Amino acid sequence: MSYPCIEVNLPLLKKNTETIVRKCAERGISVIAVSKVFCGDPIIAEAVLSGGVTMIADSRMKNIVKLQELNCPKTLLRIPALSEVAEVIEYADYSQNSELEVLQQLSKEAIRQNKIHKVILMVDLGDLREGFWEDDVLAAAIEVHQMAGLRLAGIGTNLTCYGAVIPDETNLGKLVALKKKIEANLDMTLEIVSGGNSSSYYLVENGKIPAGINQLRIGEAIIRGVESAFGDRIEETSDEVFILKAEIIELKEKPSIPIGTIGFDAFGNVPEFQDKGTIRRAIIAIGKQDVKVDGMIPLDSGIEILGASSDHTIIDISKSSKNYQIGDTFAFKLDYVATLMAMTSEYVEKRYLGDSV
Ligand SMILES: *Cc1c(COP(=O)(O)O)cnc(C)c1O
Repeated sequence: MSYPCIEVNLPLLKKNTETIVRKCAERGISVIAVSKVFCGDPIIAEAVLSGGVTMIADSRMKNIVKLQELNCPKTLLRIPALSEVAEVIEYADYSQNSELEVLQQLSKEAIRQNKIHKVILMVDLGDLREGFWEDDVLAAAIEVHQMAGLRLAGIGTNLTCYGAVIPDETNLGKLVALKKKIEANLDMTLEIVSGGNSSSYYLVENGKIPAGINQLRIGEAIIRGVESAFGDRIEETSDEVFILKAEIIELKEKPSIPIGTIGFDAFGNVPEFQDKGTIRRAIIAIGKQDVKVDGMIPLDSGIEILGASSDHTIIDISKSSKNYQIGDTFAFKLDYVATLMAMTSEYVEKRYLGDSV
């Protein structure tokens, strides 16, 4: 066994997925699972698929390529770069788009590869990340509808990312209205109205998601059991799917205030210290190169993270009832960014618990 490691509990992940898929299905919404937080790991993606999602989505082509053996359609979430058009057509079934210049290249490439690529047009409803401005969507839809090799599969939006705008009946209502306008104009039906990410999930639970939204793209709610508009825990899900473990490499009693003139710490900040007298502290072998340290939540509520440098994290264990020894490990739950970083770090071993199927 080597540490630090992140343990991924596949049965819990499957159960989280089942809960969210079921609640969304009650509102006529299908869930695409977003795999970027686990870097498109195919084993983890299998667990999510066994929980009932029918499609996987990721922001990065590298992750979509990793998932190619999985028997499900894939959506590229990040609007494609011109430089990746050939890969998008080869590996992604759907892509989300907001640039006609890129769409023209996708069309050419789809013709070249003899494929029909499905397009979701993104609409910016105020969060100010990607998307066509509302007034420009219809014209874009008309153009895409005429592009050979592409099928206009639907429209979508993304909120609560840059501008932190909360999805509600008003902004998502506009998306549904736009869908109807496009359908009337082009005399066709759009397969997908994609109403956002885990921040839209609360509208499923409170029954206020506008009728007509038929897809959500869900990452965080599945992997952490938390909706992301208000940070509320979701019933019948676990927030312990991903657990980070790191090993104790020093255990000593030391003062809580450094001795000497205080300059800059390892990250160029002037630190501040609270005098708690002499404390019993542990150093664990993990640091800011591996994880967002302030996104780690200790499972032992008696311990407290004091600080970290690139590869050491210092922990006050004075209040813990456990008799920790060198070589023991601490376990942590993780927030979204900490999960993302730990999964991305090549220094953190990935371990799978249980079997999802
Ligand atoms: C990351 C991402 C998602 C999933 O977000 P979560 O908050 O993890 O559910 C959905 N859509 C887009 C476009 C994304 O980039």
